[in-house]
Amino acid sequence: MSVGGHIATMTTTTMTMTMTTTRGVRPTTMTTSTYRRRTRAVHRASVSSSSDGETTATGGGFDLARLARVLKKKTAMDIERVFNGTSKTREKLSAVNDVLALWRMDDFEEALEELEETLLGVDFGPEVALAATDGVRARVELGECSSGKEVREALKESIVDILNAAGDSTSIGLNETEGEPSVVLVVGVNGGGKTTTLGKLSHRFAQSGAKVMMVPGDTFRAAAAEQLATWAERTGAVMSDSPPNTKPGAVCFKAVDEACARGDVDVVLADTSGRLHNNSQLMDELVGVKKSITKRLPSAPHEVLLVLDGTTGLNMLNQARVFSKAVGVTGIILTKLDGTARGGAVVSVVNELGIPVKFVGVGEGMDDLQSFEPVSFVDALFPEEDE
Ligand code: GDP
Repeated sequence: MSVGGHIATMTTTTMTMTMTTTRGVRPTTMTTSTYRRRTRAVHRASVSSSSDGETTATGGGFDLARLARVLKKKTAMDIERVFNGTSKTREKLSAVNDVLALWRMDDFEEALEELEETLLGVDFGPEVALAATDGVRARVELGECSSGKEVREALKESIVDILNAAGDSTSIGLNETEGEPSVVLVVGVNGGGKTTTLGKLSHRFAQSGAKVMMVPGDTFRAAAAEQLATWAERTGAVMSDSPPNTKPGAVCFKAVDEACARGDVDVVLADTSGRLHNNSQLMDELVGVKKSITKRLPSAPHEVLLVLDGTTGLNMLNQARVFSKAVGVTGIILTKLDGTARGGAVVSVVNELGIPVKFVGVGEGMDDLQSFEPVSFVDALFPEEDE
């Protein structure tokens, strides 16, 4: 995604950080030139993390190098938590292994067909099932694989290719302009885990030293603001406040205005009402929320993150289409992957809409948000037989 050309990219797998720009918090006592020197120092430290994998934080405030370290730590946990639910879950996910255990090259086409059907059964949409088996066919025809084990690897590679083709999962859009916040708008249908995810994101940003402001833009659900305020307290975020009955667009405008006026807020995390994606009136209101944010800060929002409930299977595809069309989603957060076998459906969303998954939710606690890493995700989708 592009936010006025200001993008910081954090690669969690290799721990390399390539960034065009970065910004830090400017303490009130710091002069502009000192601040700029310090910002450059943080940038250098961040880049050096690519060679040794460990970086010492330099400067205060929003330290991107530190954020990268936090992301790396989370990624190590992915396979253990993702889909690590009931035995039924694991049974479903290992259906592909059963097909591959019987793989025979003399029945190649039939075996491929069976594989395609099995992929459909574990919530891959028809297009992904076809693309993935086509990928396997191409590799078999090139003589790159023939045994069930090799075909399994080829299948996993095909799916990783689909996930990678949508762009960098580990980049987050940030506003580089000094004194201005980065604005993250979080959208999705009711009950998907939006508010909880905002809390987890707040914790994640706070761990990196960022000052976060939470915005109760979900004016529809009575308890949402309260729930968000609890998360703000737990994670040390500032809670933006509006008089009762303020429209969501005005709530968000006021919050961004306040964050800009304060000058010390790094990230504004805006909640929105849970939309029924087939309710055009509510979707129009969401478009209005986005416009209000842009009206106050033309480069914002810098990220529009769509929360998709991992337990909904292919239903998430239609939701993603509608939200993407309405508000231009820049990244997906896939929630509730702890204990569901249905997260594979997200590959269809990525394939069709070309939007990368950026985080996954694996529980209700504030540490239960992990960076999305395609290879680990696909490893979790297709667990080894003996695991
Ligand atoms: P919202 O209506 O989209 O804001 O959804 P909420 O944030 O209120 O979440 C709905 C329910 O899902 C709550 O009970 C959350 O605790 C739960 N939830 C959210 N994310 C996760 C997750 O990653 N894993 C699990 N198991 N539960 C989650």
